[in-house]
Amino acid sequence: MEKETLLLPARDPERDRESIALAGRILREGGIVAIPTETVYGLAGNALDPAATGRIYAAKGRPSDNPLIVHIQGMEEWPPLVKEVPPEAKGLAERFWPGPLTIILEKSALVPETTSGGLDTVAVRMPSDPVARAVIREAGVPLAAPSANRSGSPSPTTWRHCRDDLMGRVDAILQAGDCGVGVESTVLSLCRGPDGSRRPRLLRPGAVTLEQLRQALGEVVVDRGVLEHLEEGEKAPSPGMKYKHYAPRAEVVLVKGSTEGYRRYLENCRQPGEHAMCFTQDLPLREPVLCYGGREDHAAQAERLFDLLRQLDRTGAKKVYIHAPAPDGVGLAVYNRLIRAAAFRVVEV
Ligand code: AMP
Ligand code: MG
Repeated sequence: MEKETLLLPARDPERDRESIALAGRILREGGIVAIPTETVYGLAGNALDPAATGRIYAAKGRPSDNPLIVHIQGMEEWPPLVKEVPPEAKGLAERFWPGPLTIILEKSALVPETTSGGLDTVAVRMPSDPVARAVIREAGVPLAAPSANRSGSPSPTTWRHCRDDLMGRVDAILQAGDCGVGVESTVLSLCRGPDGSRRPRLLRPGAVTLEQLRQALGEVVVDRGVLEHLEEGEKAPSPGMKYKHYAPRAEVVLVKGSTEGYRRYLENCRQPGEHAMCFTQDLPLREPVLCYGGREDHAAQAERLFDLLRQLDRTGAKKVYIHAPAPDGVGLAVYNRLIRAAAFRVVEV
């Protein structure tokens, strides 16, 4: 599917108005465009047009039962997409939107099944990134926008990552700044369960933390798929959970333990050429080594994570031992991405 891909400068929604207007036009006409958001770059298309979302799945090589998140820029765009907005959902949106929280509710007839991956629910988010907001406004339609990577490779956090994965496969890529959050949005389901109640369920951790959600809602169930490997054939409440994800080509081993434990483990098992990905506190360590932030600085770890996984691929690393963050706060999001990159290979030291 070779097509011409425009690279459009879009650092600033005011200064780069022409790029935003062009992106909006392409989207209105059914095209697909990689756009920045505060979490990761998204591959956007008209969420209400099955032909456009079909192009997204094809460009990414994404399985068609993996639903897309619908991005809006104003509160008034939400009610038409869902059956109802219950008070707890409205309260959450008022608190965390615009921002990195996706809320799943029963969908309305307006949302095509291609967007919802065949489910009767729809995931909606209002991003805070000013370029993303300007593009949605300009397009005049809600935008489906999964991460703008080839399916299976680490999510893109810079426009260059999008270019590396999608050049020749999409209509345009916006050349905007790097993503500040660095991991995909928190995904929370507020759909009714079999007993008719809406027990909040965390399907994917992100920068809006479980602790913040519990503070806002009281009880929040953490879906088993967040931290555990779902069995072959097991039904995943969020289809994205069952796919191998975020994986660099190198074999990833996730190492849980103290600074001393990690250092000692690496001294004993690391072969020449095998990489370490560690916290600043673990340094100095024998090269090759990449550092992804302070041990407690989960925001920095999230911001750098996917770029470092891509760097490992560029250097041809065969194996990497990554020091695992504590699974609390934004650390839960980082940990969740890393156990998938590691295909659930975890050693405790
Ligand atoms: P991405 O767009 O790449 O950030 O992936 C979106 C994630 O949200 C995937 O893991 C999807 O499976 C999940 N998701 C989107 N819509 C729904 C939905 N209606 N129900 C459950 N999970 C969803
Ligand atoms: Mg993705």
